[in-house]
Amino acid sequence: MNKLEIIPLGGIGEFGMNCMGIRCGDEMIVVDAGMGFPEETPYGVDISIPNFDFLEEYRDDLTALVLTHGHEDHIGALSYILRKFNLPVYASRFTHALAEKRLEEFDMLGEVLLHRVEANDVVEIGQFTVEFIHASHSLVDCFSLAIRTPIGTIIHTGDYKIDDTVENLRVATDNLDQLTDSLKQRPWSLIRIKQPKDREVPH
Ligand SMILES: [Zn+2]
Repeated sequence: MNKLEIIPLGGIGEFGMNCMGIRCGDEMIVVDAGMGFPEETPYGVDISIPNFDFLEEYRDDLTALVLTHGHEDHIGALSYILRKFNLPVYASRFTHALAEKRLEEFDMLGEVLLHRVEANDVVEIGQFTVEFIHASHSLVDCFSLAIRTPIGTIIHTGDYKIDDTVENLRVATDNLDQLTDSLKQRPWSLIRIKQPKDREVPH
């Protein structure tokens, strides 16, 4: 029977470097490729990136990179991962534009297949079915993800921020309903909730 593996390369218990491999059978998608911002820089290190070498053993399994939103701690290492693994990228309109800019800076535009998706889109990537769900955050065009696999559904909330204006609260509630509905489609699910926190690094 297939296994479902969740492999965080960064972003757990730390700020930055958000990157997570999700593998089912012999297929793997990666969610986000963020940069980190070390607080102490004894050697003049200003940024850090996930160790993508770790994905080398899954090279033949990798099928796509899915971006939740455009903050640097989620897309800042885009050029580094794509230089190593030329994966098709799925992103919202705004994130897509930022990704293009980033790839242009690294002279990689045209080398990478960028797919633009919208909230409520459902995309099949091999045996993964990824539903893009609008998430309220401090940036436009942000997604939570419902990632369906033959084994179960993974909810990846991405970053979110619920503000207390009535309209935003209503939208946020609708989104949470949508996430909950996704969970009902399998008898069990794995959930990763990423706690929202104040961001100190300007982005
Ligand atoms: Zn964010």
